Amino acid sequence: MDKSIHTVMLDRDKCKGCISCMKRCPTEAIRVRGGKARVLYDRCIGCGECVRMCPHQAKLPIYDSFDKIFDYKYKIAVPAPSLFGQFNNLKSVDLILTGLLEIGFDDVYEVAVGAELISEKTRKLLESGKLKKPVISSACPAVVELIYMRYKGLADHVIDLVAPAEVALKLAREEAIQKGIPKEDIGVFFISPCPAKGFALKNPVTSAKAVADGVLSISEIYLKLLPVLPKIKEVKKLSKTGMLGLRWAASGGECLGIDNDKYLAADGVENVINVLREMENDALSYIDFVELGACTSGCVGGVLNVENPFAARARLRSFRHRLEPMKNALNVDEYDEEFFHWDHEPEVKDIFRLDEDFGMALKKMREIEEVYSSLPQLDCGQCGAPSCRAFAEDVVLGETTIDKCQQLKNENK
Ligand code: SF4
Ligand code: SF4
Repeated sequence: MDKSIHTVMLDRDKCKGCISCMKRCPTEAIRVRGGKARVLYDRCIGCGECVRMCPHQAKLPIYDSFDKIFDYKYKIAVPAPSLFGQFNNLKSVDLILTGLLEIGFDDVYEVAVGAELISEKTRKLLESGKLKKPVISSACPAVVELIYMRYKGLADHVIDLVAPAEVALKLAREEAIQKGIPKEDIGVFFISPCPAKGFALKNPVTSAKAVADGVLSISEIYLKLLPVLPKIKEVKKLSKTGMLGLRWAASGGECLGIDNDKYLAADGVENVINVLREMENDALSYIDFVELGACTSGCVGGVLNVENPFAARARLRSFRHRLEPMKNALNVDEYDEEFFHWDHEPEVKDIFRLDEDFGMALKKMREIEEVYSSLPQLDCGQCGAPSCRAFAEDVVLGETTIDKCQQLKNENK
């Protein structure tokens, strides 16, 4: 996969080399060398943990500038449901959608519509009995990347459905074309809660081509909406979704749409890893559907949000009595199968392959074991690698030298 567009980047001036990010990265994708952090992008799943953990705000999630929308004559905002959880005392979803028109968009299309369709599609596929259980949701791109990188044996449990945002982006563009807008004038912009979703839409790992013209952050849109919302005189009726679609914003919301009680929902990357390990050990065979989100509390916990994820979740819950359970008028059966399914599987990442040549790879593996056994195995991180094993690998691959182990140095003094 082309990782020339990244998920996170480093502000070198702010980085103090404190190793907080390196110790929390779930895929050991960070090294700290020369006093500065460096991301090994081939290993990065875009979970945003490093952004959350950096005490110096040196790790920055990547997204497009709002001004990019003005490259297009007909600009469509496609907001993730988490956007609606950012505002206190919000009376209606329509107020935010009207606000999006006020700040410069020409049209809006909610991701929640795509979520309701994917819920229906998932329910039908589960009922068909053709899927390998427990079925794992494909909605969180960080989780899908993690599985294809570290838990390849579970890849055939992942449901091959595109994410709700992708469905909504495609529907938004189609609707604009049907209105007679020239294709080249249409710009479709996803308003995202996290860098992983944005990256997946711009560098599609399961689709033939990118469906978003840009990915904007919820935090930037929130700041633009704040001064505009109190001045809105007439709230337009724009929302096409019900509660089911909005609930996808928080952990467990997707499960509520499948009409099956044998589900499990876990959020936060460490919990996700624990569930995947249990699945590897066949400990969850009594479960039909597994919803996994890399962020705490689900998408409302993504690093591009503003609000505390628990507060955002509570706010979304308060809509429960005001919205219909499910509202969108679209019928999944009216679309071709290809519309909802992946064009292809994600590439299985063999980032831990040590050498193209099998004999050489074995030799390096033996060398790694030798180096590792000579280390104190304290995983202290002072060498700039997240664990002694990662350090041994880096030594054998020529990325660093064994004299960087401070513990060994101290022992030999
Ligand atoms: S957490 Fe990482 S990016 Fe932030 S200052 Fe420490 S080493 Fe640098
Ligand atoms: S975004 Fe996640 S996977 Fe990528 S470097 Fe940061 S912590 Fe590691």
